[in-house]
Amino acid sequence: MKGELEQTLLRNLNYVKERIAIACNKVARKPEDIKILGASKRQSPEKIRFLYNYGITLFGENYVQEAEEKITALEDLSIEWHFIGRLQTNKVKRAIKLFHMIETVDRKELALELEKRLSKENKTMPILLEVNIGGEPTKGGIRVEELESFCEVIQQLKHLEVRGLMCLPPLEEDANRVRPYFVKMRELFERFKPFFGESFRELSMGTSHDFEVAIEEGATIIRLGSILFGPRL
Ligand SMILES: *Cc1c(COP(=O)(O)O)cnc(C)c1O
Repeated sequence: MKGELEQTLLRNLNYVKERIAIACNKVARKPEDIKILGASKRQSPEKIRFLYNYGITLFGENYVQEAEEKITALEDLSIEWHFIGRLQTNKVKRAIKLFHMIETVDRKELALELEKRLSKENKTMPILLEVNIGGEPTKGGIRVEELESFCEVIQQLKHLEVRGLMCLPPLEEDANRVRPYFVKMRELFERFKPFFGESFRELSMGTSHDFEVAIEEGATIIRLGSILFGPRL
């Protein structure tokens, strides 16, 4: 018999999948084209393992130290790990060893440090550019006005493979009020695609509060925390 925790996680997952299917249906998209990323900060390795056994293979962590412990504890699983927090330059060396993708490249200093460390290791790394789509001074992310000059710099960095864009828009009680930000992200995505070509294909947006709206507006990766795992520790 399944334990209580496992049952809860399975129920959460089925509920999320139903809602994804409904959102996809509205806009004639296929659920297979939406990747669910389990945002696992302050969630136990045990929960990650259960979700993995039910088919979730992509997880995102916000803190290098915390991630290192979990990634080690879950080494036997083929998890794809994304970094989705604010990356300090002094953590870059560890981050490129631990993660398969950095979703939050948001400043030149960070891009240059990544390039330096990756070229030393003779390794390339998929990244997303984080956009500060709400223009919020307290948040990370490249400002929309600076995105073009940022892309020009990034294009020169041969060890970074830009796969797309990511954002964390302003929190709104009503998910529909986030829609204009997602629409804007989609427009930026189309506009900057020619810079990077075919490998530029991911749009990481939408959390527990607004993933359906994000799907309707073109998200390819949705980052789900509390709705999947339950409340964080
Ligand atoms: C925590 C986090 C999420 C998930 O948030 P929930 O509201 O729990 O779904 C998504 N993206 C980022 C960048 C996060 O830090």
